[in-house]
Amino acid sequence: MADCLFCSIIAGEIPSKKVYEDEWVYAFEDISPVAPHHVLLIPKEHIASVNEITAENSAAVAKIYEAAGKIAQQLGIAQEGYRIVTNCGEKAGQTVFHLHFHLIAGRDLQWPPG
Ligand code: AMP
Ligand code: ZN
Repeated sequence: MADCLFCSIIAGEIPSKKVYEDEWVYAFEDISPVAPHHVLLIPKEHIASVNEITAENSAAVAKIYEAAGKIAQQLGIAQEGYRIVTNCGEKAGQTVFHLHFHLIAGRDLQWPPG
């Protein structure tokens, strides 16, 4: 999609530090990490937010969670634990309107989140 930062990253027009890629999913390091490990997992298809998930495109979400488990193994954090977070909409702090899942690990994570 034109003017979408994460679509441009998938297309290779904007550089990123790739962590994982398959037919459905692209994952890369967050540019402003909030923890020692902070990876963003995104569907290759443009979906603006959780509000736009439908019966037609929801398979991508399952693929993202499959990929998350593989990435956790790859990073060596599967056993110690990690968090997957999606912000939806302005009040939740969503700033990029291409669906993404933050995978965060490497420190003690607080609950509830701020
Ligand atoms: P959110 O605020 O939930 O929409 O998350 C957007 C995330 O994208 C933030 O954690 C940003 O640090 C991250 N981000 C923004 N631009 C880039 C970029 N060019 N490469 C990697 N991560 C980015
Ligand atoms: Zn996009």
